[in-house]
Amino acid sequence: MARYTGPVCRLCRTEQKKLMLKGERCKSGKCPISRKLPPPGKDPKVRPGKRSDYGLQLREKQRLRRIYGMQEKQFHLFFERALRMPGITGENLFLLLERRLDNTVYRLHFAVSRAQARQLVLHGHVRVNGKRVDIPSFLVKPGDSIEIDEKSKPLAIIKDALKEYGRSGVMPWLSLDPDALKGVFLAAPRRGDITDLMDIKEQMVVEFYSK
Ligand code: SF4
Repeated sequence: MARYTGPVCRLCRTEQKKLMLKGERCKSGKCPISRKLPPPGKDPKVRPGKRSDYGLQLREKQRLRRIYGMQEKQFHLFFERALRMPGITGENLFLLLERRLDNTVYRLHFAVSRAQARQLVLHGHVRVNGKRVDIPSFLVKPGDSIEIDEKSKPLAIIKDALKEYGRSGVMPWLSLDPDALKGVFLAAPRRGDITDLMDIKEQMVVEFYSK
């Protein structure tokens, strides 16, 4: 599937929010958002105009889509699936996004960003329930084990990424054995568990697609 290959910091500058797409750099003073760089192509002296409701909903949808590194077509398919599920559509959408294999690999700290996690999956470094899975959008389910392939365990990028586990642990719906490089997707996360994305207003994404 086609994917965005341009400079990712530009995406954050467009949203004027940190999307955390580059691992350690996002937490450093080098981050263009920390340096308060303006949106690309905009004169910083010109005050931005007021956005319409549609414009605000579009930006929220784009922000969520870009955080998870998805193209519009696939993101829309996820939304359609969330719509068909019982319960609250916005929360269902988050649940599906969090179940993605590339996201789970990132959440287990096997990679510093979702983009790097996607590469690990695509290159066959990840096993689900003992079987190699190279589809980043594969949806894991409660009880699934996710581990790094035996041959890939010495990879320096994985060891470097895992340092974050010592700092922040894993999200409450996951467990990790850092020595075995093996994690378990324990249960479906609730919206309130996804604490790093609490500022996303998923209802606006629902409203955007409901027009
Ligand atoms: Fe976004 Fe990270 Fe680049 Fe900052 S460093 S602009 S958070 S991708």
